Amino acid sequence: MPRIRRGIMRPQMNRRSLLGAGVALGAGAATTAVATPARAQAVDGADAIVDTVVVGAGLAGLAAARKLVAAGKKVLVLEARDRVGGRVHDIGLANGGTIERGGQFTGPTQTRLQALADELGVKTFTGYNTGESIYYTADGTAIRYTGALPPMDNDSYQALGQAIYQLDTLASTVPVDTPWAAPKAEELDGQTFASWIEGNVTNANAKTILHLMSNGALSAESRDISLLWILYYIAVSGNETNPGNLTRLISTLGGARDSRFVGGPYQIATKMAAALGSKVVLKTPVRRIVQSGGSALVVADNLVVSASSVVVALPPTLAGRIVYSPALPATRDQLTQRFPLSSIGKAIAVYDKPFWRDAGLNGQVAALTGTTRSTFDNSPPDGSYGALLAFLDGDQMRAVEDKSDATVKQLILDDLTRYFGSKAATPTEFVLGRWDAEEYTRGGAPGFTPPGVLTRFGTAIRKTSGVIHWAGAETATFWNGHMEGAVRSGEQAAADILKG
Ligand SMILES: Cc1cc2nc3c(=O)[nH]c(=O)nc-3n(C[C@H](O)[C@H](O)[C@H](O)COP(=O)(O)OP(=O)(O)OC[C@H]3O[C@@H](n4cnc5c(N)ncnc54)[C@H](O)[C@@H]3O)c2cc1C
Repeated sequence: MPRIRRGIMRPQMNRRSLLGAGVALGAGAATTAVATPARAQAVDGADAIVDTVVVGAGLAGLAAARKLVAAGKKVLVLEARDRVGGRVHDIGLANGGTIERGGQFTGPTQTRLQALADELGVKTFTGYNTGESIYYTADGTAIRYTGALPPMDNDSYQALGQAIYQLDTLASTVPVDTPWAAPKAEELDGQTFASWIEGNVTNANAKTILHLMSNGALSAESRDISLLWILYYIAVSGNETNPGNLTRLISTLGGARDSRFVGGPYQIATKMAAALGSKVVLKTPVRRIVQSGGSALVVADNLVVSASSVVVALPPTLAGRIVYSPALPATRDQLTQRFPLSSIGKAIAVYDKPFWRDAGLNGQVAALTGTTRSTFDNSPPDGSYGALLAFLDGDQMRAVEDKSDATVKQLILDDLTRYFGSKAATPTEFVLGRWDAEEYTRGGAPGFTPPGVLTRFGTAIRKTSGVIHWAGAETATFWNGHMEGAVRSGEQAAADILKG
């Protein structure tokens, strides 16, 4: 039976099992940040005392821990899953390759992620972009095209260009660190992206593409997202010297989906974790954080740790599921009640060769019908086998919630066959990531805010609560919601702690 001390359900745990948990990563680290039990148990029943506990071993948490450890701090990273990486996860294929289940693309201006990858020896390569894309209209007509935008008549192009210009212009008024302080924040946050499209764009083709951009860039329906949030998301698609713009956010070549990591981005997480060694403890979900007297007790399922500071590096909704004592300020809690992750699924169909390339296709589809409406060529850099990436965004992901993996697979293969021909029907391997269903993610690529949230509760995104610092891709400024944002947010939280 667990012993109860000072109101905390505390499991039996000793130093040996604590170290065992860290060693489960297999990193073979020689040192540990954990204090001896004799000393630790003198403090509020903790198993260990460290300077900082990091909650979550995604890119944000690992980047924070890496920086703190480099500065000489004693750190423990508590991770709920049996692996690190969070929304970044690659898996080995039977054909010897590696495929990205989660985050994968990077591009220009994502400087912190690329610097980190360089330090860790993980290289990038430009994604396959040779040949034509396909646009499937609502009546099922397939139109092949080159360039960033599907083919349209001149009026439609002009209307779309005008709308993109308007969005970029509005986005340029949104401060990347305080979007709620934009000059027209009230008006912009009082409507959805969909209502802006319907109210400002008259051309039907342009409207259709703008709604589709919402699915493509955020995996979310335009009716769900605040206009201010999407403008913010555009504004942060850059860095300190290159202002964000919509074209960079949605593009492959030269944009957010320009490049991939050779061997996959999961290596960035596993290499950081390996360097941290036994400071990363897996299978240890944090349930409660108790603050008193300028320090905190972090209570996990199988461990209690005392720390001078805590970095919670989780998506906002999951951060809101931890119990805080004393209770967090109302604004912070109300924010996490209103900051969903998008609905996203990601499937990879693997083939002996990238056969679509022979037909002059680059593997990219934008479709207005189907279970998957967005595909990419996800083959390795040498094209030694073929892989098609199929996204399930927003409503398409919600529509398959009750369907079995086998049924979802068939729906996706039916779509791929429609797009690329009969060879697409028989992949050699098939990988399906249902991120909404994963207990320790529960959604997708980025979070977003509905109307009225940024202006009323946004100030709580990064505001520390006592000794708790908030990190994670959704707390970032530049490249919020992306791997770059995750790394930046973790490094920023660490820098704030080191500043004192
Ligand atoms: C399908 C998909 C495709 C994507 N594509 C791209 C892309 O191409 N390019 C790009 O830049 N980004 C992409 N992203 C987004 C990117 O992966 C994320 O923004 C980034 O990885 C988030 O990192 P993070 O550390 O902030 O959060 P997470 O990766 O979510 O890490 C949080 C960690 O906390 C753990 N955790 C949760 N609850 C607890 C708890 N109570 N106690 C302890 N640990 C807990 C989780 O297990 C997880 O490991 C994609 C995401 C998905 C899902």
